[in-house]
Amino acid sequence: MRPLTERDIRTSFVNCSKGETQRLGLPKDFPDLPWPDLDFLGWRDPGAPERAYLVAERGGRPTGLALRVTTGASRGFTSRSMCSLCLTTRTGGGVALMTARRTGEPGRQGNTVGQYLCADLSCSLYVRGTKQSVAGGGLDESLTPEEKIARIEANLRAFLDKVTG
Ligand SMILES: [Zn+2]
Repeated sequence: MRPLTERDIRTSFVNCSKGETQRLGLPKDFPDLPWPDLDFLGWRDPGAPERAYLVAERGGRPTGLALRVTTGASRGFTSRSMCSLCLTTRTGGGVALMTARRTGEPGRQGNTVGQYLCADLSCSLYVRGTKQSVAGGGLDESLTPEEKIARIEANLRAFLDKVTG
């Protein structure tokens, strides 16, 4: 994706208040992000681990989603969950349930969309093999990295559509 400035990021969010976007913590490695290897920018708030953010290009513009991370006590350490973007299955909390408040009237009524996502939102790096996961592998390793990247983009579009639709 094209590199984003801090201003691009803070003005991209569609499902949270202006105050929230001003307060959010940028990724710790923001000055050194591997932009060419990212299909979307996703990170956990360094100052508030229960918050996560995702910024993707949509119609040529950065579109940001604020997410709440559910750290479910009900799921045991050995339980496996699959990331809905990169379809990697992980154990031990490597995949977390994250919810996004929907935009517009549904959001005002408290409607959210929940998705299981890689807990560190590094799907782009996992499918390119530039970051190794601690536990668990992909389901169908027969896919090429290009096919996996296309799949992330399609799943990401569907997620954004659900939140903003
Ligand atoms: Zn993932």
